[in-house]
Amino acid sequence: TVGLIAVRDGVITVGCSSSGKQGKHPGRVGDSPIFGSGLYAEGGVGAAVCTGDGDKMCSFPLAFSVVTLMRSGHTPQEACTQAIQYLLALPQGDAEIEIAVIACSVHGDVGAACSPKYLSEFTFAAGSAEHQAEVYFCQPRPE
Ligand code: ASP
Repeated sequence: TVGLIAVRDGVITVGCSSSGKQGKHPGRVGDSPIFGSGLYAEGGVGAAVCTGDGDKMCSFPLAFSVVTLMRSGHTPQEACTQAIQYLLALPQGDAEIEIAVIACSVHGDVGAACSPKYLSEFTFAAGSAEHQAEVYFCQPRPE
């Protein structure tokens, strides 16, 4: 998945593109096009976009949960970490799930988190009009 969050003059937008899952059945719909699951944006608050096992992520509104936490006062980093912790702790959850999320507030603060089972190094970039984009390496959280 390629996920993108853009903020300008207080207007926030989110998008993502995915080739889906390797060996997928024709017509499969993963989390990526589902607003609230794979991506979500809310005016005045922020946005989140996810990557990972869309078949499992479809049953949990991860992007919506992250933005909801941000609306209630959490930083994007806190929101990403808490939402993934919550998802992993669900009774029907899967400790092996490979999942990651990035978030950005309307003020340009960013955060990211990934599950311990995220198989490859999860990297993302963030920049602004004033600061050249930098690449960040997301550590799996929680342990
Ligand atoms: N989330 C995508 C899907 O399951 C896969 C990906 O992250 O690339 O469709």
